[in-house]
Amino acid sequence: MADTPELQARKTIHVGGEWLEAVSGATREILDPADALPFVLVAEGDEKDTDLAVAAARQAFDGGQGVWPQTPVAERAALLRRVADLLVRDREDLGRLEARDAGKTVEEGRVDIDCVADAFRYFADLVAAEAPGRVVDAGSPDIHSVVVHEPVGVCALITPWNYPLLQASWKIAPALAAGNTFVVKPSEITPLTTIALIDLLTEAGLPAGVANIVTGPGHSVGARLAEHPDVDLVSFTGGLVSGTKVAQAAAPSVKKVALELGGKNPNVVFADACATEEGFDTAVDQALNAAFIHSGQVCSAGGRLIVEESIRERFVAELARRAAKIRLGRGTADSVECGPLVSEQQRTKVESFVASALEEGAVLRTGGKRPEPSAQRPATGYFYEPTVLDACHREMRVVREEVFGPVLTVETFQTEDEAVALANDTEYGLAGAVWTTDAGRARRVAGRLRHGTVWINDFHPYLPQAEWGGFGKSGVGRELGPAGLAEYRESKHVYQNLAPKPVRWFAG
Ligand code: NAD
Repeated sequence: MADTPELQARKTIHVGGEWLEAVSGATREILDPADALPFVLVAEGDEKDTDLAVAAARQAFDGGQGVWPQTPVAERAALLRRVADLLVRDREDLGRLEARDAGKTVEEGRVDIDCVADAFRYFADLVAAEAPGRVVDAGSPDIHSVVVHEPVGVCALITPWNYPLLQASWKIAPALAAGNTFVVKPSEITPLTTIALIDLLTEAGLPAGVANIVTGPGHSVGARLAEHPDVDLVSFTGGLVSGTKVAQAAAPSVKKVALELGGKNPNVVFADACATEEGFDTAVDQALNAAFIHSGQVCSAGGRLIVEESIRERFVAELARRAAKIRLGRGTADSVECGPLVSEQQRTKVESFVASALEEGAVLRTGGKRPEPSAQRPATGYFYEPTVLDACHREMRVVREEVFGPVLTVETFQTEDEAVALANDTEYGLAGAVWTTDAGRARRVAGRLRHGTVWINDFHPYLPQAEWGGFGKSGVGRELGPAGLAEYRESKHVYQNLAPKPVRWFAG
């Protein structure tokens, strides 16, 4: 991929095995969020490109014997493992590309690529180890009854900008493992690593037409994919507003819909977790990580600190002190700990949340502004200081809505019931954590939290083997784990009568 704006990359639409420019010839500049300068030009596809890509995916799915859906499971698994190996080979380049495109540190980019490789390996292992079908006891030796799994068909995979390749891999790996063909539409502002992955899939031996990509905006490419009559499934990761539109657009054609949406994730800290210096240090450190990694642009970001009143002052003071020391800068620069926000639009949104919180009575403990420019922080970059807002309450917009930026709100509780009520008081339900040394309390609170992932004395880890997804408006369906594969399958019951006889229900 070119590292200059002169751009060999304008052919970024992949249809039926060919790299193409947009039918309209339109292009889009991809900006580096650290300085707002364009560094690659990509094709700006629209409905026409989308229709071509869907047709290619349809042809690759329906094309008869020898095509991907009929490829033996062992071969599909082997291909996914080759993709994982290629990701490891290209880890440094891909990690740097992701860092530059999405405004991460290079180390975050590398970790993302490791996680992408893990997803490919996990789904390879999962399908390879499976029995081909589940035999059902029909109660008669004359009946052979088996439930088998088949691919859904053509999958539309729509992804966001915060973890571009990781979110794509959670869809692409199970979709391929299950034998589907797909059209992926990455976020229009961070498409570069997903484009690169298509080349790796080809290098690993995936037949032409199985993997297609259309770069372009949500309102044209994404919307067309969601409504397209030849698409059998749409899997979307992104915000609540776009996700609702996707579900509405998909409804008339009754396609399968999976939605991974936002979160408003509580991090509940009981005083007992901070009874020792080590416990206090760990809980503060992890609260910092929960809220500010990738500048808070994480669906599971722990942006809502819910801390026991008795330790609030000490905890928040230390948290604010450490937040103020986070080193912001261009993610590719050495010693930088946190990159910029992804776009000016995102920074403006974060600023409006902070302004409204202060108007509603929140107390600013640190941050709340753009940092001074420096050698590692160009004035044109979309930087924003890690921000801690104390004295928040549940009626505030900043407490209710997803900020998706480096903003931590502080609420307090006195009893376990209050803590649980605050943690569950959100229309979302993606993830949450509880910090306590009391094992009984940990189990009780974890059991009562209405969130798809609950951490006890930790924040953020996930496992490819464990389902990821949300309660409430955090979405529909699950990614990862066996359920993340099941999303991409239809179940078929094959009932065979080995000794057929007349039923004689009707006299004649
Ligand atoms: P977004 O909703 O703006 O965009 C996501 C994708 O949808 C993009 O590719 C976009 O082009 C496309 N899109 C936009 N409008 C569309 C439409 N009408 N029809 C079809 N596609 C459309 O989200 P974003 O700003 O890119 O990402 C941030 C959001 O993603 C946050 O809300 C975050 O919580 C969520 N997210 C969730 C998870 C999860 O696992 N639950 C993971 C990562 C991000």
